[in-house]
Amino acid sequence: MIEFIDVFKTYGNGTEALRGVNLKVEKGEFVFIVGSSGAGKSTFLKLITCEEAPNSGEIIVNGRKLSTVKKRDIPYVRRTMGMVFQDFRLIDKMTVFDNVAFAMHVVGASQREIKKRVPYILNLVGLKEKINCRPKELSGGEQQRVGLARALVNNPSMIIADEPTGNIDPALSFEIVGLLSEINRRGTTVLMVTHEHRLVKHFRRRVVEIHDGLVVADSCNLALEVPDEN
Ligand code: ADP
Repeated sequence: MIEFIDVFKTYGNGTEALRGVNLKVEKGEFVFIVGSSGAGKSTFLKLITCEEAPNSGEIIVNGRKLSTVKKRDIPYVRRTMGMVFQDFRLIDKMTVFDNVAFAMHVVGASQREIKKRVPYILNLVGLKEKINCRPKELSGGEQQRVGLARALVNNPSMIIADEPTGNIDPALSFEIVGLLSEINRRGTTVLMVTHEHRLVKHFRRRVVEIHDGLVVADSCNLALEVPDEN
C-alpha cells in the first residue's frame, strides 16, 4: 500500500529531513510514527500526501510510483487519503454538517449523496447531535471528531494523521485513537504521528521510530521473544 525505497529529502535551505528511508506499510495496518521534534515525521507524511517531493528514492502508494504522477493528477492520489491535522483545520463559519459536506462537494459529489452520507459519517464518529453546531461551540475532542468525519467522508483507503491528539485533553486522546482503531478495524489503513507514549503503549500497534531522518526502530521487525529456559 505504501512503500518508501531509499528516500532522501533535503529542503531548499539544506536541511536533510530524511536520509535514506526504507519502509513498507501493508493495506489494513495501523502504524504509529514516533520520534522527537525535528526527526522527520511530518516530512515523511508530506511525501506520502505529495505536499513535498523527495530528492531521490521512490515512494509507491497504492501501487503507483509517486515520481510518475503528474502535478494535475495529484488531487486524484490525495482522494485515496483522508488527512487529519493537529489544529483540526475546520472552517469556523460553517456548521459541522457543512464542514464535512464541503469535502464531498470539492470532489464533485451530488447534493443527494452529500445529504445521505454526511449524517451517516457524523453518526459514526458520535456527533449526530452536533450536526448544526459551529466548530467554536464544540470541545477540542469534538472538533477533532469533525476532522475525522471530514477525512472519512470520501471513503479513503488510508488515514494520514499528524499528531491528531496534540491539541486535545489527554483523556479525550484515547477516544480519538479508539475511533481511529475502529475505522482501521473496518479496513482503512492508518498512519498516525504522535508524541504520546501512553497512547502507543495502550493501543499496542506497529510503532515506527524516526530519528534524525532515519527509521531507527520498527516494532514489526522485533525478533520474537525467546522465553527463558529456566
Ligand atoms: P518532525 O515532524 O519530526 O518534527 P519535520 O519533518 O517537520 O520533523 O522536520 C524535519 C527537519 O526538516 C527539521 O530540521 C525541520 O526544521 C526541517 N524542515 C521541515 N520543513 C521544512 C521546510 N519547509 N523548509 C526547511 N526545513 C524544513
